[in-house]
Amino acid sequence: MPEYEAPLADMRFVLENVVDLQALAQLPGFEHVDPETTYGILEESGRFFSQEFAPLNRVGDTQHSRRGEDGAVTTPAGFVGAYRRYVDAGWQAVPFPPEYGGGGFPWLVAIAMQEMMTASNMAFSLCPLLTQGAIDMLLHYGSEEQREVYLPRMVTGEWTGTMNLTEPQAGSDVGALTTRAVPADDGTWRITGQKIFITYGEHDLADNIVHLVLARVPDAPPGTKGISCFIVPKFLVNDDGSLGERNALECVSIERKMGINASPTCVMAYDGAVGYLIGEANQGMRYMFKMMNNARLSVGVEGLSLGERAYQQAVRYATERRQGRAVGAPPGADSPIVEHPDVRRMLLTMRAQIEALRCLAYLNAESLDIAGRHPDPAVATARQELADLLTPITKGWGTDLGVELTSLAVQVHGGMGYIEETGVAQHYRDARIAPIYEGTNGIQAMDMVGRKLPMRAGGVMADYLAGIEATAAELSGAAEPDLATIGKHLADAHAALRQATDWLLANGLADPNNALAAASPYLRMCGIVTGGWLLARSAAAAQRALAEGRGDAGFLTQKVLTARFYAEQLLPQAAGLAPAVTAGPGDLLAAVF
Ligand SMILES: Cc1cc2nc3c(=O)[nH]c(=O)nc-3n(C[C@H](O)[C@H](O)[C@H](O)COP(=O)(O)OP(=O)(O)OC[C@H]3O[C@@H](n4cnc5c(N)ncnc54)[C@H](O)[C@@H]3O)c2cc1C
Repeated sequence: MPEYEAPLADMRFVLENVVDLQALAQLPGFEHVDPETTYGILEESGRFFSQEFAPLNRVGDTQHSRRGEDGAVTTPAGFVGAYRRYVDAGWQAVPFPPEYGGGGFPWLVAIAMQEMMTASNMAFSLCPLLTQGAIDMLLHYGSEEQREVYLPRMVTGEWTGTMNLTEPQAGSDVGALTTRAVPADDGTWRITGQKIFITYGEHDLADNIVHLVLARVPDAPPGTKGISCFIVPKFLVNDDGSLGERNALECVSIERKMGINASPTCVMAYDGAVGYLIGEANQGMRYMFKMMNNARLSVGVEGLSLGERAYQQAVRYATERRQGRAVGAPPGADSPIVEHPDVRRMLLTMRAQIEALRCLAYLNAESLDIAGRHPDPAVATARQELADLLTPITKGWGTDLGVELTSLAVQVHGGMGYIEETGVAQHYRDARIAPIYEGTNGIQAMDMVGRKLPMRAGGVMADYLAGIEATAAELSGAAEPDLATIGKHLADAHAALRQATDWLLANGLADPNNALAAASPYLRMCGIVTGGWLLARSAAAAQRALAEGRGDAGFLTQKVLTARFYAEQLLPQAAGLAPAVTAGPGDLLAAVF
């Protein structure tokens, strides 16, 4: 039995029923995206990741990446070979433009692949993930020359990329960064400063590392308005494309961490390193904001991926481990723990939240694709708004759930879950970083109430709520009792979220502390209700297929059951959060620490 099996049937169900891969393939630029071919790619890449990356997950956790005296970083045994095969297979290139050697597939397909890559080995997946982010930045804002020099080899994965934002005094407050960039006579720049926590800042997987570094040019305005973005390659690139001199930068140490041990988290020192300005000076933060949707979606997917991986392990353990006799079981032998209702509750809670998260992440990705490609500007704008609204939910709720789901998997294992040997504890430790990086979840919640809720004076959120209300009304009136039950619970949750939203719109502007104090419970409410909405749509689709005699009846019946469980037992938690949203900041501000 492989350690991780790509959940292809579940993924395909979402791609066909919650989002619409078929319709996406009709958009300009995606004509070559035949859905059947795409499912073939997913199957093949899923096999690759579970065979090549998954077996290295534990190796990476125990061996860690290591830095030698000379500053070189060695990844755990097997990583170099697996990465080489990843590059040779062309997986890195799938979503990028054909003119740079990419496959031109939708972001939705990349996200589905990423789900499997991250589930197989999160620490490994971060190298391609960071490279993707750097490619995205160069595609949008790099000059033609910069794109030609760097993109072809980053798109294949031969060169990797990093994002260098954080400094000791500049974490959530990126505007506090002090790394300096001074112009040189030849039009390039010299970068000096120290960056911390740089993922894959140094390693042995690729020939070159293309660092994207945020720095300040002379006389830059203070704060985020004075940040510029530079390409600072580990090796300078000669005119003929070959690698030249080593640049004046080094990895001075790597961190010992709670999880993702195979991923080198580097302190990087830049000492007059040659840099190339991307776009215009002082526009770096604007560029980063544009990149954020993709990067935050990818990190949200980490919650889904680790949840799925831990779920598969928990189900396996629960069917093997025997303890106690389940009610109604014949005397004489212990029952597998999967027969105990409380264990079943844990497993079904995991399954329901994982399925909800998958729907959310794929809808988020599809929205980015439609926003970028749809010929009707009204449709494109509406989908951009939806992607903007969903992004903090996917990142914030998704990564919080990643921690909760992996914790549940530990619980299913009992004492063995706490023992490293079973490997389930690693998923929990690995999952813990995701609510912290790429903007902490506190920052996501502030983004939700401070930027996203006020979009179109609350109009974007109103449209979103109207969509949820319409699904609730449709299902509440359904003749099929499961759908009617789901519809009723969705209607209640929608009412609670609408009330909380109205309160925030009325009180958040009057006193920003009202919004800031409410932000985290509000973001969680949004996540829970969105999950309920998307599972309701999934149940309706499964029920339709069942009625029409299409598909695997057992699989479809479980889809309806999972959605009903979520609606009846998890969705009501949304209303329970409303008092925390509308309480105001009084207690929080009066508390003495
Ligand atoms: C393993 C790892 C990998 C990383 N990879 C990278 C990378 O590749 N590149 C990179 O540039 N960075 C990277 N980071 C840095 C990461 O993005 C930061 O740690 C993160 O942004 C938080 O910054 P901080 O650690 O300074 O925490 P702080 O900003 O000090 O936050 C501490 C707490 O205060 C809260 N807080 C802070 N400000 C506010 C506010 N205004 N309102 C409300 N609450 C607030 C936060 O939500 C958090 O709970 C990585 C970090 C780690 C640990």
